[in-house]
Amino acid sequence: MGKTANTSVRDLLFGDLWDYAPAPESRDHLTIHERYGHFIDGKFVEGEDHFPSINPATEEQLFEVASADEATVDLAVKAARKAYDKVWGKMPGSERAKYLYRIARMIQEKARALAVAESLDGGKPIKESRDVDIPLAAAHFFYYAGWADKLEYALPGASPSPIGVAGQIIPWNFPLLMAAWKIAPALAAGNTIVIKPAETTPLTAMMLAEIIQEADLPPGVVNIVNGAGQTGAAIVNHPDIDKIAFTGSTDVGKIIQRALAGSRKKLTLELGGKGANIIFDDASLDQAVEGIINGIFFNQGHVCCAGSRLLVQENIADELMHKLRHRVSTLIVGDPLDKNTDVGAINSREQLLRIQELVAAGKDEGAQIFQPSSPLPEKGFFFKPTVFTEVTPSHRIAREEIFGPVLSVLTFRTPEEAIEKANNTPYGLACGVWTDKGSRLFRVANALKCGIVWGNTYNRFDPTSPFGGYKESGFGREGGLHGLLPYLEVR
Ligand code: NDP
Repeated sequence: MGKTANTSVRDLLFGDLWDYAPAPESRDHLTIHERYGHFIDGKFVEGEDHFPSINPATEEQLFEVASADEATVDLAVKAARKAYDKVWGKMPGSERAKYLYRIARMIQEKARALAVAESLDGGKPIKESRDVDIPLAAAHFFYYAGWADKLEYALPGASPSPIGVAGQIIPWNFPLLMAAWKIAPALAAGNTIVIKPAETTPLTAMMLAEIIQEADLPPGVVNIVNGAGQTGAAIVNHPDIDKIAFTGSTDVGKIIQRALAGSRKKLTLELGGKGANIIFDDASLDQAVEGIINGIFFNQGHVCCAGSRLLVQENIADELMHKLRHRVSTLIVGDPLDKNTDVGAINSREQLLRIQELVAAGKDEGAQIFQPSSPLPEKGFFFKPTVFTEVTPSHRIAREEIFGPVLSVLTFRTPEEAIEKANNTPYGLACGVWTDKGSRLFRVANALKCGIVWGNTYNRFDPTSPFGGYKESGFGREGGLHGLLPYLEVR
């Protein structure tokens, strides 16, 4: 324990008394091609209209990637339909499971290269891609492989059958993990797929295509088309798609919902959030500080369920904020490939501009900003971990999803006030509650209008546990038994 200027509060030491030597992960074992096209009907196809994919930590071009137009999307949908009608839709679940297990094991075998690729292409710290993204992606394939031959037991008496061809559109914050969340349950349930990765992070999806090819998955069962929003729209509007699964912004989610209104297509939406992390005065404060840090600075805050609003009971606010500022000052911001890095690069220049705009709005509206003094790297898209105090519920930084390393702190006096403030948002994805009292935890959790509530922890993910929101955070669940339902026709 170390003494600080505020003599009434003692701080834990976080290695802030010494410097860390650089510990860069090697990228020698990763082969990146100069150009990527699409993966259609079991084959890599060249594609057209290539655009550059940038390493957000250096601003250097990593490779070029194609942009699929309507004709290319149509080829992918036709391949998926043929594979569904002739092979996959008829295959016994026990056989489908073997492919899913194989893909899961191959993700594990190639975990190191996948983790480096994820950090290079997307900017996230290697310790997160290595310890969270890639192992969880493999775990999703393992988990849903287990369900593939047990669907009748999952839904007794319901005679579940697959839906057909699923169109899936995923964002850039957890590229391989989001692909796994979408692909694994759809395949386990017997559907075939056309999936589009986000334009800034297609690399691990193309590596997954290599794995799928090596695993000998029948051609056309999984088709991966690259491109920007128009490619996503072409999937959404294709007449032979039976179901759309989308993860991304609430604005695009609304566009998709409007496009599908009146059609027979099924839809699940996993959209934005403005999660409240609620700290009661009986919580273990040092533990809560770690949960707050993890809640907002994990993956640079590019997390739909981020704990981006901190609600602190007023009588402990000074002590907690002192501890939090101290801890934020020890975070290492920099090279995503360095194993010591806590906060990596912002995914794109566009996202950095959006964060800067909202932070400027926070200052203009009168909130107090805290940022550590250590400088940022000169090149690349970086943003300092930021904590705003004196935030009111009407401030933009308390209402809008910033999707960056920016925390807005509000206070409360009673549990009722905490619940009211936490629910005062159009979103309803995730919340956290920190208290020593189990009865309070359950009471507050039940009153919170969000799909996920973590108790004395934050950002814990597990393939067996359903994930999803309500209100403007979307509908439908991914993960667990619930995650199979959107891919099944139940009679
Ligand atoms: P988008 O919602 O635009 O992107 C999500 C995915 O949808 C991407 O693959 C994107 O392609 C695709 N897409 C874009 N427009 C359409 C369309 N009209 N029809 C079908 N698909 C489409 O998010 P952004 O990347 O623009 O991020 C903007 C904000 O959204 C962020 O600041 C953040 O607040 C929020 N966000 C939330 C996420 C979440 O998990 N809840 C994830 C990502 C962003 P492309 O990559 O080419 O744009």
